[in-house]
Amino acid sequence: MTKKNHIHTTCVHAGELPKDRYKAAISPLYMSTAYDYEDLEKKRYPRYFNTPNQEAIGQKIAALENTDSALVFGSGMAAISAALLAFLQKGDHVVFQATLYGGTVHFIVKEFQRFGIEYSFVNGLQTSDFENALKPHTKIIYVETPSNPLLHLVDLAAIAQLAKKNGLLTLIDNTFATPINQNPIDLGIDVVLHSATKYMAGHSDLLAGALATSTSLMEVILSSAINYGGNLSEQSVWLLDRSLKTLALRVEKQNANALAIAQYLEKHPKVLAVHYPGLSSHPQHKLALRQMKGFGGMMSFELASAQFAQKFVKNLKIITPAMSLAGVESTVVSPLQTSHALLTDEQRAEQGIGPGLLRFSTGIEHIDDLIFDLEKSLALL
Ligand SMILES: *Cc1c(COP(=O)(O)O)cnc(C)c1O
Repeated sequence: MTKKNHIHTTCVHAGELPKDRYKAAISPLYMSTAYDYEDLEKKRYPRYFNTPNQEAIGQKIAALENTDSALVFGSGMAAISAALLAFLQKGDHVVFQATLYGGTVHFIVKEFQRFGIEYSFVNGLQTSDFENALKPHTKIIYVETPSNPLLHLVDLAAIAQLAKKNGLLTLIDNTFATPINQNPIDLGIDVVLHSATKYMAGHSDLLAGALATSTSLMEVILSSAINYGGNLSEQSVWLLDRSLKTLALRVEKQNANALAIAQYLEKHPKVLAVHYPGLSSHPQHKLALRQMKGFGGMMSFELASAQFAQKFVKNLKIITPAMSLAGVESTVVSPLQTSHALLTDEQRAEQGIGPGLLRFSTGIEHIDDLIFDLEKSLALL
């Protein structure tokens, strides 16, 4: 029996290229876009996702997600669109969770109609929401858990079971959880998607995407994805590989910091509510314990008004306002001013997004400094 490595070891060592003649400690970077073809079964070319570095990082990500194979893309949206378009054709129907990443919603609403693909958006807090939306021509159930910005969860094992019963494929955007905190394949989900721009890259300096699945489903995705050409450049593949070496280390620190901050904020009289799956007050905390190994670095909390939220953000010293998330630095964002700015007050209220809501992305700074920063800024409200 071969022993499976612990996740930290997988992060550092999975998908290593064979040692070169200099016996370097890390894999070399092959920048070449041209490779010999004579007497070689495999014809290598970057758009075919089969250069040495692309294959190596694919092995690492597949190992992290407990599946056979993985590909990296030029962005999260390139991975998401390639996966959906590989499986769907005219006349198909997809059931989507309503609280998806805004870019994914935009892709569906803007592009699907042209291809003759139908879709339904469902609340998704109950598995029956998905079941009730199924049609005879439904092909895919697509989820994102924990969701943005309210950290709602979807029961992955129940969704996988529902899909199997009906012969459907399941896709998940696992960006918020990361493979360190949640392995959807183990729960029966078919395809795992990531905006690697976020935790996988982790330093707010790289745009990338990834997907992981079984060998047989990967064949379907690959045959389409090479036509769309959404590959990641070799230099970025190499940088992403470097980032992945510290993924477990970073995410575990972010988990610990986030839990401490959520517990602190929950007790603060100026904070109306905290949304974090690690809190026992989270309505789906039991589900979180069942399907997550850690609760992640993302949370959101509510202050009394939009004015309070703005003032609070301005007075922070270490924590910075930023649109993106998942870097080693702690950041905060107002959905009202950014991702959900185009909605009306009523639409936001319907989604549970109050004017004083702030989404918080926990970094790896020392917890005492983060809480001191929050404390001082809350005191000024
Ligand atoms: C950022 C993000 C995406 C899109 O990824 P890009 O790398 O920006 O294309 C998709 N899903 C989630 C959950 C994200 O946070």
